[in-house]
Amino acid sequence: MKYVVVGNSAAGLFAVEEIRRRDPEGEITVLTADNVPYYSRCLTTYYIAGDIPLGRLYLRPDDFAPRLGLEIAYGAEVTGLNVQKQVVITQDGREWPYDRLLLATGASANTLTVPGADLPEVFTLRHMSDARAIDALIPSCREAVVVGGGLVSLKSAYALLKRGLKVTVVVSSTRVLSQMLDNRSARYVAGHLANHGLNLILGADVAGINGGEHVESVTLSDGRELAAQLVIVGKGVRPNTGYLAGSPIAVGQGIQVNDRLETSAPNVYAAGDVAETWDRVLEKYTVNATWPNATAQGRIAGANMTGAGERYLGSMGFNSVDFFGLSVISAGVVKLPALANEGSAWQVREQWKPGPWGIPAYQRLVFKDEILKGYVLLGDTSRAGILTGLIREGKPYRSRVMEA
Ligand SMILES: Cc1cc2nc3c(=O)[nH]c(=O)nc-3n(C[C@H](O)[C@H](O)[C@H](O)COP(=O)(O)OP(=O)(O)OC[C@H]3O[C@@H](n4cnc5c(N)ncnc54)[C@H](O)[C@@H]3O)c2cc1C
Repeated sequence: MKYVVVGNSAAGLFAVEEIRRRDPEGEITVLTADNVPYYSRCLTTYYIAGDIPLGRLYLRPDDFAPRLGLEIAYGAEVTGLNVQKQVVITQDGREWPYDRLLLATGASANTLTVPGADLPEVFTLRHMSDARAIDALIPSCREAVVVGGGLVSLKSAYALLKRGLKVTVVVSSTRVLSQMLDNRSARYVAGHLANHGLNLILGADVAGINGGEHVESVTLSDGRELAAQLVIVGKGVRPNTGYLAGSPIAVGQGIQVNDRLETSAPNVYAAGDVAETWDRVLEKYTVNATWPNATAQGRIAGANMTGAGERYLGSMGFNSVDFFGLSVISAGVVKLPALANEGSAWQVREQWKPGPWGIPAYQRLVFKDEILKGYVLLGDTSRAGILTGLIREGKPYRSRVMEA
């Protein structure tokens, strides 16, 4: 059996391990646009912060590929697919035949389209090369602007603050981490970051980035100008599906898959940030671009490529982060759906208790028909495992949750 896996990150890694576990003889080829072995994108901000050395980003030992018998083609960008002939085409025109194919091409960071966005000190943070370039630039910078209030932006801002820069985060919406947190916890996180020196500007957009050859400042849409020698843009991601143009593989928000993670073409699977999967909490198909979803999908896709027939029960939003000693974890639905009102099936129960070192313990539980659909934990995150399990179980258990 000839397996081809496109992408060598979370989904691709868990897939090749599962394929090899189940099929010791099969030929496994990995095609990747990256030039580096398997590493964790999630940890790149901690490398920039100086919390961990570069070597800690790598996920597997040096002998991983030979030990698993993988042929890995680095710098091999896939540009097309012929599902009738069952071949993958790379940018050099080479054709790679497959019996089973996994598309684990992940996502790319959105960029800004304002004047000055192409200056050399304007970065997105997606690849190890971005992290290394940012790390190398920091010693020559005093001020930085981070655009966007999501997880990658705030993790980047944390890293730059830890490196001693004066950091401003500019957010279009009126709060940070709007996908991950409710208003109350978002306000607390914003205040906590401000106490550690972050300058946070909410409800503002970047109108332009100024400088002749190098970044000197950032102009906001309200005319304010912020001095900066470094800009990091964190405006979300989009699935890498461009190479599927002209192929019959169905693409919505991402590559559409069924509960076996099969695409609309025979013998072709998709997993990770590129895949549009069933969200078990929202009960609709969507892209849940997180590391745990990517690894779970990669493993199941890998199993099914060997003929296992495992069902993927669905993804769900899950995020976990720590800023200067403040731990925050959220999962599933954290805000009430727009139509929910008093007396509807949706309910929220919150507890806010004083905690150690001045950090409160906040717990927000979101229920529909007494079934837990999501939570936010701030300060004390020790119950995250139990609550996540309860969301997955989907059974009414209200008293068990509130008793603790
Ligand atoms: C800075 C940062 C911090 C993050 N923090 C967290 C966090 O705290 N928690 C969390 O859950 N998630 C976090 N994430 C998100 C997490 O990293 C992603 O969800 C995860 O990496 C998705 O894995 P993936 O395998 O689907 O795709 P990706 O990691 O995007 O990898 C895609 C792979 O496909 C390859 N590829 C792409 N296009 C082609 C092509 N045409 N031809 C060949 N190869 C191609 C790429 O080279 C790469 O190897 C973070 C991401 C970033 C960037």
